[in-house]
Amino acid sequence: MADVFVIGVDIGATNIRVARSDMHGKVLKMIKVKNKAIENPPILPLLVADLIREVGEEGVGAIGVGSIGPLRVSDGSIIPPNLGNRPIKIKPELERIFDIPVFLTNDCISAVIAEKLLGEGKNYDNLVYITFSTGIGAGVIVDGKILSGKDGNAHEVGHLVLDVDDRVRCKCGGYSHWEAFCSGSSIIPYASFLSDKLHLPELGAKTPEALFKLAREGNQIAQIVTERCALINAAGIASVINAYDPSLVTIGGSLALLNPDFYEPMLGNLQQFLTNRMPKAYLTHLGEDIVLKGALEIAKDPGIIQRGFN
Ligand SMILES: [Zn+2]
Repeated sequence: MADVFVIGVDIGATNIRVARSDMHGKVLKMIKVKNKAIENPPILPLLVADLIREVGEEGVGAIGVGSIGPLRVSDGSIIPPNLGNRPIKIKPELERIFDIPVFLTNDCISAVIAEKLLGEGKNYDNLVYITFSTGIGAGVIVDGKILSGKDGNAHEVGHLVLDVDDRVRCKCGGYSHWEAFCSGSSIIPYASFLSDKLHLPELGAKTPEALFKLAREGNQIAQIVTERCALINAAGIASVINAYDPSLVTIGGSLALLNPDFYEPMLGNLQQFLTNRMPKAYLTHLGEDIVLKGALEIAKDPGIIQRGFN
């Protein structure tokens, strides 16, 4: 019965998605729940195991896990700042529980594999996927090769340093990293930082959506934050393009997918920061399930990580 089905897991800072598909990629059951391990990170493997049982473990030959990073692939751990910075041995734990192979990658590597196999990337050997959600990250394919790095963190672009003056603290402990300004979890604290710095009244918004609404209504600090993020995001995306020279950049993550006021201005600001030729760039058509789709593809064909697409 083995390897009739595969399981895909997307571990995000806000949600966990788990799906079971057949070997043709047909999804038979999918569930999405809030990531309760945010409050208690060590429970993550057992939480994921329960969800896997819920979609059905029978006849499953492999599990693909796309997770927020950073990772430590040598022992199958994830060490995300959004989950307390302590190693969580997700791969060995799931292998122990289910006794089948588990393949762990960064969530954005899963996503860029989905983009290449199922999305807009089919005709390209050089592509980048960038997510804007709780954090910011990228998955990169160069010359058909999936970039991974020594620990599985070859493109933790959310920690690109985009300012050397503004001392904005990132959850990883560093300063002025891209995701310390403009990610889903940082944009409100960044607004507080700016209102303090510019001696403007506090924003009064608690979510990115409320901030964008205030900006549309003419609130000064909300508009400043939105404009700063458009510039910072353009600088970040341009830096990624300057580093990897892709033909295609697709953008996803709930913050970008659900907020045109956040997404649209960033591409308009790109050109001024570019050295390399402008690639095609747009929102992914694979939506919020892109990481899950990639994790299923990896479970179906784990060799793809090493082999790439050549
Ligand atoms: Zn950081």
